[in-house]
Amino acid sequence: LVSRKNKSEDTVIEVNGDSIGEGEATFVFGPCSVESQEQMERVAANLAAKGLKYIRGGAFKPRTSPYDFQGLGIEGLKIMSEVAKKYDLRVISEIMDASDLEAALPYLDVVQIGARNMQNFSLLKAVGHINKPVLLKRGLSATIEEFVNAAEYITMHGNPNVMLCERGIRTYEKATRNTLDISAVPILKRETHLPVFVDITHSTGRKDILLPIAKAALAVGADGIMAEVHPNPTVALSDANQQMSLEEFDVFFKNLLS
Ligand code: PEP
Ligand code: MN
Repeated sequence: LVSRKNKSEDTVIEVNGDSIGEGEATFVFGPCSVESQEQMERVAANLAAKGLKYIRGGAFKPRTSPYDFQGLGIEGLKIMSEVAKKYDLRVISEIMDASDLEAALPYLDVVQIGARNMQNFSLLKAVGHINKPVLLKRGLSATIEEFVNAAEYITMHGNPNVMLCERGIRTYEKATRNTLDISAVPILKRETHLPVFVDITHSTGRKDILLPIAKAALAVGADGIMAEVHPNPTVALSDANQQMSLEEFDVFFKNLLS
């Protein structure tokens, strides 16, 4: 279903009046985790001032260590949804467990499936049955073929509104957190008709190369860019080293558009 062979024209995804995959790049920024109302307000005000339309923030966090901050859960989604309404932003957040979907959906515009759950087939089937778009992230060690098959699970179960997100894969290279597979973008665009995003934060894990990586992603045909932005990254409850401060974000975004 997701193959270009079955449908030659690009899938355009409607999210509350905004179109993704229609030509103009979509930008999804926001903190790694939703931490507080005040934190989300500061990020949302910055995004809205730039004319941006989306905000991200994790409420159910897939943390490597069980001792790390696990997210605010539904409370976090309520905070983000309230703030997003005030600033006219669309909300995207990860759901890790199918049993949380029903309670979470009223607060979400796009459901994110994280890298660690790319082959959680029961979760993929569950989001196949919802009527909101899904942003599916590439698994940590998933091949492009496995990634496309995961998207096929969702569409096969009835939800055609799937976006793919390349977020780096595991290699022996340690200079970046993961290795951004930039060729995955044109390959996915060629082999599927789905919109393709690049997460420049989780792929690189370093703030000093975000601008050239974002430009590279757009140059190879990405439909959207995701990156993490936090009002005070040094005290962030997750991914403190890789999130842009609002000041860094202002410079990044200005240079990205110029
Ligand atoms: C995220 O986007 O919040 C996240 C955890 O990313 P990934 O699933 O790509 O690691
Ligand atoms: Mn993160």
